[in-house]
Parts: sequence; C-alpha cells; structure tokens
Amino acid sequence: MNAAVIFNPNSGRGRAGAIAHTVALSLSKRGVECDLRATRRPKEAIVLAEHSAPHVDVVVAIGGDGTINEVTNGMARARDKAGPGVRQPMLGIVPAGTVNVLSLELGIPFQVERACAVIAAGKTMSLDQGNVNGRRFMLMMGAGIDALTVRNVDPAAKRRYREMAFVTTGMKLGFTHKHPAFVVVANGEEYLATFMVAGNSRWYAGRFGVTPMADPTDGVLDLVLYTGLDRAGLAGFWLGVPSGLHLRAKKVLYLHATKAEIRPISNDEPIWYQTDGEVAGRLPAHLEVEPHAIEVLIP
Ligand SMILES: [Mg+2]
Repeated sequence: MNAAVIFNPNSGRGRAGAIAHTVALSLSKRGVECDLRATRRPKEAIVLAEHSAPHVDVVVAIGGDGTINEVTNGMARARDKAGPGVRQPMLGIVPAGTVNVLSLELGIPFQVERACAVIAAGKTMSLDQGNVNGRRFMLMMGAGIDALTVRNVDPAAKRRYREMAFVTTGMKLGFTHKHPAFVVVANGEEYLATFMVAGNSRWYAGRFGVTPMADPTDGVLDLVLYTGLDRAGLAGFWLGVPSGLHLRAKKVLYLHATKAEIRPISNDEPIWYQTDGEVAGRLPAHLEVEPHAIEVLIP
C-alpha cells in the first residue's frame, strides 16, 4: 500500500508538521509507503490531493475539517477527471485540527499511532459527498445566516470555545442582521427560507446536531429550512440547537432530498453559503448528493 500524506504545517496550532513525521514513521513501520506533502498556501491541499490521487492507494489528511474538506475536494476533482469506473484511492484521516467533527462522527482515534493503525488496517466505509456548485462537502452546507455566522466567528473564539462560538455568533447575527429570503426548490416543492442547512453528517460544529438524523451513507441530504422572516425567531432557532429543540420550533422544516436549487429572490444583497464551515460562494446554487463517492478508512 502507498499513501500521500497531506498536511497544513500551520494546522493544529502548528503541531501538524511534527505529527506528519510521526505518521510517516508509523505508517512505514506498518508497510505503508509514504510521501509527505506540506501545503504552502491556503487551498493548496485541494491541488496536492488532486495530483496525488491517481498514483496512490490512500490519501491521508492530517488536520481538522477544513483540511479534510480540501483534500476530499481534490480527490473529487481527480475522480471527475478519471471518469466512472476508475478505481479511486481511500481517504485516511489523522485528526489534528481545531475542529474535528468528521473524525468524531467516524470514531477515528485522536491519538496519532492509533489513527495510523486504523489506516494500515484497511477497513473502509463508503460515504456520500455533497456538491454545491462543484464545491464538495463531507459535513454540511448552509446558506443565509449560517454562512454569515461562519464568516463572523472570531478565530480566537473558535479555538477557545469551539462549537459555542458558532451558536453565540449565530444568535447575535440573528438579532442584529437583516436576513434576505431565498427560494429552495426540492422534491418538486418550492420553499421560502431565510436560512438553510443541508447535512450529510449529524454533526454541525462540535457536538451540535443541526441535522441530527443525517446519515452520510444513505444517499440523501437532510435539509433544515428556517422559513420565518423575523429576527427574534432566527435567534431562537439557534438557542434551541444545543438541546435539539430547534427542530420543534415553529417555521422549521426538515426534509430529505438528493438535490435542490437555491436562488435569491432579488440580487440586491449577496446571500452567502458555506461548506464544512468555510464560506464557499454566494447564491444561486445547485445542490446535490453524490452517493458513496468516497471510501474512508475507519476503525
Ligand atoms: Mg445522508
């Protein structure tokens, strides 16, 4: 087995570089030939993964959800280029970021040696990938206040308080910002929303499940739409997220869909969307799921 090991040296408060060398040693001890690839600028993990994918059995991502998002986007690009039927590498994960939601979901060990043992053991699970305007996501995409929240979370607060930072920022913005409505077309129905999340995974930011029933292996996305137009209601929605009560709030819809079209009502104000916690673009957007798109090494 051979692997490309991709890491951002600045990830995990600068620990990822040291972890990468431990990973290389640990994997080669277990018979996996490793090629270390450090990123030098933002988004470079996408390119490194795309270029490595055709030549390796495993692409290993060292880092948090941001790094995994980039690596899996690169793997998807390689898959697009290769066309159907061409065998694709597996994804190995060594958690080392600030936020490691996917690793939590999959039960990947947070201890480096144990994460390497999982990779070398070769057991996989086939996961769906979300795709919004060509940008892939493993966890979720969100439009409206959700993307604004991600844009506005102070990085220091994110490190210190993790998921709480998202909720408090979401509540604050719920009160202080105007929320332009947009249209979501899914399953032949048209909905008006001021906020939506499409979850591939149960988890959203840390332990909070905005889409608590989402299953990344069932070939559908779980959509939560907030259809209210008032600010207090939106802040209340966020207040309910830690306890799961948001799903019982008024003006909240929970749907399953394989695809959706999301478009602004007017072009006066940009409406942003995020993927896996990073702002990725602005509406309109075509959203779809790619069932069983990626084989991930799991315990
Ligand atoms: Mg699903």
